[in-house]
Amino acid sequence: MRILVVEDEPDLLRGLTRSLREEGYAVDTAADGEDGLCKAETVNYDAVVLDVMLPRLDGWEILRRLRATKKTPVLLLTARDRSADRVRGLDLGADDYLVKPFDLPELLARLRALIRRSASATRSVIELGDVRIDLAARTISRNGTAIVLTAREYVLVEYLALHRGEVVTRTTLYEHLFDDTDDTLSNLLDVHVSNVRKKLGHAFIATRRGHGYCIEE
Ligand code: CA
Repeated sequence: MRILVVEDEPDLLRGLTRSLREEGYAVDTAADGEDGLCKAETVNYDAVVLDVMLPRLDGWEILRRLRATKKTPVLLLTARDRSADRVRGLDLGADDYLVKPFDLPELLARLRALIRRSASATRSVIELGDVRIDLAARTISRNGTAIVLTAREYVLVEYLALHRGEVVTRTTLYEHLFDDTDDTLSNLLDVHVSNVRKKLGHAFIATRRGHGYCIEE
């Protein structure tokens, strides 16, 4: 899952980026509105965290222009006691908002919910054969036994599980799992797939030669 964070306060941007990466998300950042809009229009992010007050282009303008072409889930960060801002944000197509200062666990929970909703997952648990994926707790078990995955392995499984039954191309997986700062080693998709197969069974992820990967329903 790849997230774009558009925020002009350097400390907040750095802290959010670090926390999201610890959760296994690929994260791109923008410190002003123009850069943010450009990235949001170019890459198919799984969600955008968008501050309202930004230099060059404000969050409203970004939302308005983005919604002309994309329905990427947007979580708006607004100032306290500006309820008119929140109404305006929702009217312009924001999917959710959070009032600053916010608690990190709440931001993470809201992001998980947005990503689930955009994949039309109504429940937060997906069961595939003997494998059970808890999207809220971000845990996986097999035959009732907890399986330890790295953050990146988990996100790979989550993405394929949310798109189960579909062949997901390697290009799509690269776009959603890695960001521009990932080095080539963490970037080896085949290694992550192979590690997941060792833990969840070889047949759990099917390879579609020349096309990509698939988790069957
Ligand atoms: Ca700001």
